[in-house]
Amino acid sequence: MLAIVGSNLYTVSAVCPHCKDTILPAGHLAAACPLIVELTKNADIFATKKLGSSPTVAHSMTHELAMQFTRPVVDAIVGLACAPVQGVQIDFTDATYNQASAVVKAAVYGHCSFAEASAVLAEKLDAATSIEAIEKIRGAMDSLKSAGETAVHSATGTFLFVWAKVSNVISKRSEFSYKLEAVAKSKSAVHAVTLVRPEKESEFYEMTHLFIMTVIALGLASATIVIKFIDDTVFGTIRMGEPFTVAHELVLCYFREMDFDPARLLHMGNVFRRGGQDTLLSEARRNAAAFFRAGGGILQPKGNNDDKLGNVKTIKNTKPNGKSDESSKKPCPDFNGGRPCKNLKPDGTCTFSHKCNQFVSDKGPGGYCMGPHARCTGCDYDAGKKLRAPAA
Ligand SMILES: [Zn+2]
Ligand SMILES: [Zn+2]
Ligand SMILES: [Zn+2]
Repeated sequence: MLAIVGSNLYTVSAVCPHCKDTILPAGHLAAACPLIVELTKNADIFATKKLGSSPTVAHSMTHELAMQFTRPVVDAIVGLACAPVQGVQIDFTDATYNQASAVVKAAVYGHCSFAEASAVLAEKLDAATSIEAIEKIRGAMDSLKSAGETAVHSATGTFLFVWAKVSNVISKRSEFSYKLEAVAKSKSAVHAVTLVRPEKESEFYEMTHLFIMTVIALGLASATIVIKFIDDTVFGTIRMGEPFTVAHELVLCYFREMDFDPARLLHMGNVFRRGGQDTLLSEARRNAAAFFRAGGGILQPKGNNDDKLGNVKTIKNTKPNGKSDESSKKPCPDFNGGRPCKNLKPDGTCTFSHKCNQFVSDKGPGGYCMGPHARCTGCDYDAGKKLRAPAA
């Protein structure tokens, strides 16, 4: 009897406290848990700005999330997060750039020019003493040459990039296309991601949940820091009675503050308490009104009898085919908001034209920019003629 109790106690205490033995190898020590080893290693990459290394997310993300955060994407995030302060020339004698591969990545992620990178590699080649070192540098020089067209020229910030990637996890669920990506797929396609704004409040909360998971898994911030940040910015805003659309835009404002802080001093632990909340909140309200416009297919309360009367136009099983009706005088609100089109012809063609819906002052009453771009990606119309509301 005593022996049985004893052995039970033993098995209980041997369960790994981190993964509860859900990760192999079986019977590993707590300190050697692959989950903890992975998370510590990832956090270390960002803390020490190890440009040549790549975080691993095998154990800490859901399968669906891991499909968005593939190796090239994760590499790009390291590149963004380790970028030097704007306008400052990077110091190639720094330990960060010891490895030849780190120099290549510095060029690809826009920390320096390609000419600078190849000069640094040539210098390293001169100084190399062993055949092995020479081979390594030659390899780096070759990949620098082939990386030319994949470089990130103007980058958004790390957090905005992660948030946009997360938004794609949710929006891609309804897209039942499965593909094997070709090996030679250009990197620039991997790095381009469009933010898809949530259509429902529940989607927004799921995005924050996935964002937290990603930030922790990658090692960008600790759980305590990111969860408190979300509590302040998202749930604090909701508790004040603001709609979720304002909370969404406010989070984006805070991401921008951190991502584009020229001194790189702001992070999730200090950005909220630094003050200036009112300014950002009023900006968020304006943005929410602009990006979540009524008539854009969201936030339209449904009447009780609408279903029976056929008032609600729902086209089931039709997916946007990427085409649009360019003869339409109305620019598509979904195209301009970076969302999948909702007003579709039976074949999936959008009923509106895919032109910019920025209101402008010199195109008659209610005039739009109608330029060949989406308003969410930036409108290049004369700033003095842009209007917040339709021209009378
Ligand atoms: Zn474990
Ligand atoms: Zn459209
Ligand atoms: Zn425009």
